Amino acid sequence: MEIKKENRRWLDAMNLAHPIVIAGPCSAETEEQVLKTAHLLKDTDTNVFRAGIWKPRTRPGGFEGVGEKGLPWLQKVKEETGMLVTTEVGNTDHVEKALKHDIDILWIGARTTVNPFAVQEIADSLKGVDKPVLVKNPVNPDLPLWLGGVERLQSAGISQLGVIHRGFSAYNTMHYRNKPKWHIAIELKKEFPDLPLILDPSHICGRRDTILDVSQTALDLNYDGFMIETHIDPDNAWSDAKQQITPAQLNQITQDLRIRQKNS
Ligand code: PEP
Ligand code: MN
Repeated sequence: MEIKKENRRWLDAMNLAHPIVIAGPCSAETEEQVLKTAHLLKDTDTNVFRAGIWKPRTRPGGFEGVGEKGLPWLQKVKEETGMLVTTEVGNTDHVEKALKHDIDILWIGARTTVNPFAVQEIADSLKGVDKPVLVKNPVNPDLPLWLGGVERLQSAGISQLGVIHRGFSAYNTMHYRNKPKWHIAIELKKEFPDLPLILDPSHICGRRDTILDVSQTALDLNYDGFMIETHIDPDNAWSDAKQQITPAQLNQITQDLRIRQKNS
């Protein structure tokens, strides 16, 4: 299936600067944490605020997200900062609730992309609602499965699509939490140059100190943007504490990237 050209246009139509910067906490924890983070991010290059409302934890027993009560917090972010907002949807109930609360952009997580039944159900529930949807790569290094997710959404009539590269899991990784395997994203870009490609260095790195270098590689490869987990108090985050950075650190990273780009 061919991925249509209009997928590039929604970024411009929504007035999203290039590269697009999506930032915000791994999880929405409290209204105060969400709003404080958003207000600090408003003065950075961030144009879309992210927060996970439903968290797909690998093992049960951890924090599984605040659920629907967090959606009005995201609406407040929109009203108070003017940033667009995005959250992860993993089933049709999430889609229905996210749409009811006017979430601007939806994303499909790595653990959902692996399941064609789940992606198809989400795609069907979005028929007639042309919201931008970003598809994270599946946890396993499988390009057709990643593209299959995009194609299912496109077949349901969604024309504002993009992909997020968050790395691929492997047993016992040392340096990365999820290996980037850049060639898979390069292959995707070659095949579908009009599909916006966004890097999520947070889930690739699993730590803070390598986010800049991994982001630089993506910029050199002509990626269209970044999704970076950002928290007011990263060490005490309720999920993914090791990889989250403060809004000030995010600001530094995007500025450093700009300087490096100019000098290259
Ligand atoms: C997340 O973005 O917080 C998340 C759960 O990501 P992934 O689906 O890439 O693991
Ligand atoms: Mn996370």
